[in-house]
Amino acid sequence: MPLPHPTMPSDSRPFDVAIAGAGFTGLSAALELARRGHRVVVVEKDSEAGGLAGSFLVGGKNGEAQQRLERFYHHWFASDTDILELIRGIGLESEVLHRPTRTGMYYAHKFFRLSTPLDVLRFPPLGLIDCLRLGWVALAARRVKDWRELESVTARDWLLEHCGERVYQVVWEPLLAGKFGRHAHQVSAVWIWNKLKLRGGSRGKAGQEVLSYFRGGFAALVDATVAEIRRLGGEVRLGCAAQKVLAHNGVAVGLATAEGEITARRVLLTTPLPVSSDLLEGQCSALYLARLRDMQYLSNVCIVLELSQSLSSIYWLNVNDPGFPFVAVIEHTNFEPATSYGGRHIVYLSKYLPREEHLYQMSDEEAVDFAVAALKRMFPKFERQWLTGSWVWRADYSQPIVGLHHSQKIPPFEGELKGLYVAAMGQVYPEDRGTNYAVRNGKQAAEKIAAGLGE
Ligand SMILES: Cc1cc2nc3c(=O)[nH]c(=O)nc-3n(C[C@H](O)[C@H](O)[C@H](O)COP(=O)(O)OP(=O)(O)OC[C@H]3O[C@@H](n4cnc5c(N)ncnc54)[C@H](O)[C@@H]3O)c2cc1C
Repeated sequence: MPLPHPTMPSDSRPFDVAIAGAGFTGLSAALELARRGHRVVVVEKDSEAGGLAGSFLVGGKNGEAQQRLERFYHHWFASDTDILELIRGIGLESEVLHRPTRTGMYYAHKFFRLSTPLDVLRFPPLGLIDCLRLGWVALAARRVKDWRELESVTARDWLLEHCGERVYQVVWEPLLAGKFGRHAHQVSAVWIWNKLKLRGGSRGKAGQEVLSYFRGGFAALVDATVAEIRRLGGEVRLGCAAQKVLAHNGVAVGLATAEGEITARRVLLTTPLPVSSDLLEGQCSALYLARLRDMQYLSNVCIVLELSQSLSSIYWLNVNDPGFPFVAVIEHTNFEPATSYGGRHIVYLSKYLPREEHLYQMSDEEAVDFAVAALKRMFPKFERQWLTGSWVWRADYSQPIVGLHHSQKIPPFEGELKGLYVAAMGQVYPEDRGTNYAVRNGKQAAEKIAAGLGE
C-alpha cells in the first residue's frame, strides 16, 4: 500500500532544502541530504512517490492478495551501480534479484531469438556477413574512447558506417523509428553507442542478458527509500504539488505549494525541465526559462494487459515490423514469475510518441481494443477471453530527444537564482535516462547543495 502521509507537524524553522518531485532523483537527493544531517522536505504532486517508476495495484480477484506493479516496465542492467549503492545503503541488497532473460525480435511477421551473441551470428533475416557486421557494431561501441567524438554524428550515419545498409534497415532503423518516431533521423550516435555499451556489459557467462529487479517490485524500493528519509528526519509530502519557486532579491527562498508556502535555504527542482521552467516563471530571465523549455521530450503510452495465458517465452520482444504499432512487447512475467501475480501473465505494450498523436489521445477502452487487435495479428492463438485485466498509463515527459551536440542543451545543476538547483531526467548524459542515473544525479546535486550549505 502507498505510504501514509506523515502526521507529525513540521516545526516553523525554514528547511535547509525543499525538493520538488519524489521520483528517484528527488528521493536520492533527499536521502543524501538527510544522511548529512540537513532538514529536508520533498513535495510530490502525485499521491505516491516513484515518478515514472511508480506503481499500481494488480490482482485481488477471488480474494487473493493484490500486488504492486510498475506502470511502465522497469529493470536494471549490471552497469546500474549507483542504484545498487543506494539499495546497499538502506541495507536491502539481498532484495535485488538478478535473472537471465530472453530477448527476441519480431520481424517480417516472424519471431527470432536474440538473447546471446550466438543468436546474433545466426539471425536468419541477415546473411553471414551481415550477422558478423551486427555483432561487430557492439565491439565498435566498446572501442569508442571518448563519447564527445560522436556528438556531431547521427546514430544513422554511425550505424551505416559500422554495419552497412542491410543491417541498418532490418535492425536499427525500425528501432530508432519506434523509439523516436519522426525525430529518429536527428538522434545522436552518443545515444546508440551508450545503449550498445550497456547491453553488452549486462551479459552472464553463457552470453545471455542478465537483468535485475527488486523483490516486491520497484514500489517496495520506493517505499523503503521514503521510509529511510523519514527515519532520518526528512519529510516527504505526497499529493502536494509545487506551484511556484519563491524568490527574493535573486535568491530562491522556498516553494509555494498546494498546501501553503514552504521556506527553505535551498530549492531543488527534480521536475521535468519544462515544468521547472513554469515553476520559475517570473523569477528568472527569459533566456534561462527558454533554455529549460528547450529540452524536448517524447511521451509514452503503456498498455498493461493481465492474461490468463502466456504469449511466448520471451521477456523483451523488440518489434522491427513497421506494421505493428508498438515498439516492444514486454512479457513481464517471463522475468518476475506469474506466481507473483496470482498465476496471471503481465504484458506491456509500449509506444513513445508526441502527446498530440491519436494513440495518446484515445480513451483507455479504445487503446485496449487497439492493442488487443494488434496483438492478435502478432500472436494468432491469442484470444480476447485471455484478458483478465487491462490498464493504460500515459506520461508526458518520458524520453528526452537526444540530438546532435546534446551536451550543449543540458543546463547545469546550479540554477540561475542563488540557492536554486535543477536536477532532472533531461540532464542525464551521455547515458540515457534510467533510475540508476536519476539516483546518480540526485546524489551529485545533493553533494553540491551540501557544499553550498557550508559542510
Ligand atoms: C516506458 C518507460 C520505461 C522505462 N524503463 C526503465 C527501466 O527499465 N529501468 C530504469 O532504470 N528506468 C526506466 N525508465 C526511466 C526511469 O523511469 C526514469 O529515468 C526515472 O524514473 C526518472 O526519475 P526522475 O526522478 O528524474 O523523474 P520522474 O520520475 O519523472 O520524477 C519527477 C517527479 O516530479 C513530480 N512532479 C511533477 N510536477 C510536479 C510539481 N509541480 N510538484 C511536485 N511534484 C511534481 C512527478 O509527479 C514525478 O514524481 C523508463 C521510463 C519509461 C517512461
